[in-house]
Amino acid sequence: MAINSIDPSTGKTLKNFEALTAAQIEEKLQLAADTFRSYRHTTMTERAVWMQRAAEILENDKQALGKMMTAEMGKPIKAAIAEAEKCAWVCRYYAETAQNHLADQVVETNAQKSYVRFQPLGPVLAVMPWNFPFWQVFRFAAPALMAGNVGLLKHASNVPQCALAIEDIFARAGFPKGAFQTLLVGSDAVERILNDRRVVAATLTGSEPAGRSVASIAGKQIKKTVLELGGSDPFIVMPSANLDEAVTTGVKARTINNGQSCIAAKRFIVAAEIYDEFERRFVEEMRALKIGDPIEESTDIGPLATPQIVNDLDEQVKRAVASGARVLTGGKKIDRAGNFYEPTVLVDLDINAPVSCEEIFGPVATLFRVSNIDEAIRIANATQFGLGSSAWTNDASEQTRFIEELEAGSVFINGMVASDPRLPFGGVKNSGYGRELAEFGIREFVNIKTVWVGEKTVNTDSTE
Ligand code: NAP
Repeated sequence: MAINSIDPSTGKTLKNFEALTAAQIEEKLQLAADTFRSYRHTTMTERAVWMQRAAEILENDKQALGKMMTAEMGKPIKAAIAEAEKCAWVCRYYAETAQNHLADQVVETNAQKSYVRFQPLGPVLAVMPWNFPFWQVFRFAAPALMAGNVGLLKHASNVPQCALAIEDIFARAGFPKGAFQTLLVGSDAVERILNDRRVVAATLTGSEPAGRSVASIAGKQIKKTVLELGGSDPFIVMPSANLDEAVTTGVKARTINNGQSCIAAKRFIVAAEIYDEFERRFVEEMRALKIGDPIEESTDIGPLATPQIVNDLDEQVKRAVASGARVLTGGKKIDRAGNFYEPTVLVDLDINAPVSCEEIFGPVATLFRVSNIDEAIRIANATQFGLGSSAWTNDASEQTRFIEELEAGSVFINGMVASDPRLPFGGVKNSGYGRELAEFGIREFVNIKTVWVGEKTVNTDSTE
C-alpha cells in the first residue's frame, strides 16, 4: 500500500512511501517491547537531557520543519514555524516538570509508610491527525517518554514526511533506539497493532468515528485509551463584550489552520442587542482575509489538507443552505489548482438541522442570534461535542454562568480557546475523554501504584 505526500496547494505528489509490511511491523513492535525493558530504568535526569535536546533541534530546525508541514498539509508558514516552537515548549515543560508531576505522593494512613508511586506502562500507540502534524504528536510524546513509556506513532496517511521527521528528532536528541518509532501504516493496520499484547495502551486524536473504532478495539483488550476527538465549539458574544476584540478574535478563532482545528470557534452565538453590528464586522473581516499560497508569509488562508475535506465541507454548506441558511459571503470551492475553499459565513441556520451542531472542518462560520443568556447556553450545549468554548462578556454574573454551565473541557472568557502545556486539554461528551498536558497528561499513561508498608505499632503504654 502506498502512503503519499501530496502538496494540497497544487495537488502535486511530493514523495511516495510504501506502508510497512507485516514483518516490518513485527520487528518494530519487538524493538519497542525490548527497549521498554531498559528504557523504563533510565533516570528522569537522563530523559530530561534528551528532551531538552529535542527542544533545541525543534528550535534550530523550525524553518525547515515549518516548510515541511506547509508542503504536506497546507498550513500557513508562519503558523507552521510557530508550531515547531510550541513543540519545543512542551518538550522543555515536561523536561523541567516531569520529576515533580511523578514524584511519590506520601499519604498518612495506619501504615508505617504509605504513598502513591507512578510507573510507566510500556509501549503506547499514538494514532494522530494531520492538522497539527507536529504539535499533536509532541504533546503526547513529551509526557509519555518522560514518564518512561515508549511511543509508537501511527500518523495520518497524508503526512508521512512529518511522521518520519519526528522519529528522527527523538533519535538525534539521544533517546535510545526504539524509544519512539514511526509506523508508516494505513488505518487498516491499527486493529492488529492494538490487539498485539506488547502494545499496552493507545491515544487517538482525530475524528469521532476513528475514536469509536480504536476505543472499541482497546476496550475488548482492556487497554487504556485517551481520546481527543472533534469539536463544535461555541463562541458566545454578550452585549457587554468588547466588540472590536470579539470580532477580530472570532475571525482568527474560526480560520486558524485554514479552519481545520478541533478547538476552532465554529458556532457564533451573539446577543440580539449587538448581533447586527457583529455580523456586519465579522463578514467584512472574513472577506478581507488573504487566500493564497501558504508558503507566503502574508497568506491568511491556504488550502484544505485534502480534496476529500473540500468535498465534505461543500456538502455541509449545501445541506445548511437546503435547510434554510443564507450565505453572506463565500459558500463555494475556489476555482484554482489545490484544495481551496472560500471563507464563508452562514446565517439563519435552523437550530434543529443536524448540520447546525456538527463539526465543520474548514473556514465556514455559522452565526446565531439569541435573545438572552439562557438561550445562548442552550444553543451552545446543543451539540454532541464538548471540547472548548469561548464566551465574551464583562458582566461578572454572566461569566460565572458560562463557567458553570457550558458543557466543554475548557471555557475561555474574553479569549480564544488555545492549548498551553501548563493547562489540561481535552473534552467531554463525544469530544473524548482523558486529558493531555499539565500534570493530568503525564499521569494518563502510568500505573498509579499504591504502596503500603506495615501497620503502625499501637502504643499500649498510653495512660489516656
Ligand atoms: P481522522 O480521519 O479520524 O484521522 C485521525 C487518525 O486516525 C489518522 O491517523 C487516521 O489514519 C486514523 N484513523 C482513521 N480512521 C481510523 C479507524 N477506523 N481506525 C483506526 N485509525 C483510524 O481525523 P483527521 O481527519 O486526521 O483529523 C480531523 C479530526 O481530528 C477532526 O474531527 C478534529 O476535530 C479532530 N482533532 C481533535 C483534536 C483534539 O485534541 N480533540 C485535535 C486535532 C484534531 P489515516 O490517515 O491512515 O486514515
